[in-house]
Amino acid sequence: MKYLLRVCGDCARYSLSRECPECGKKTGYAHSAPFSLEDRYGACRRKLKQEQGLI
Ligand SMILES: [Zn+2]
Repeated sequence: MKYLLRVCGDCARYSLSRECPECGKKTGYAHSAPFSLEDRYGACRRKLKQEQGLI
């Protein structure tokens, strides 16, 4: 079964349609979203750890 969940890259609204119900822009698959807060924070944390480890 394919994931049908999509997310708007602009307002981060989840939807099942190809267009955002909020802004009408095209939505992308939630699983390959261009933005990922968790990832960004994870990268930050990893970088911080690396820097701390190097000092
Ligand atoms: Zn939107």
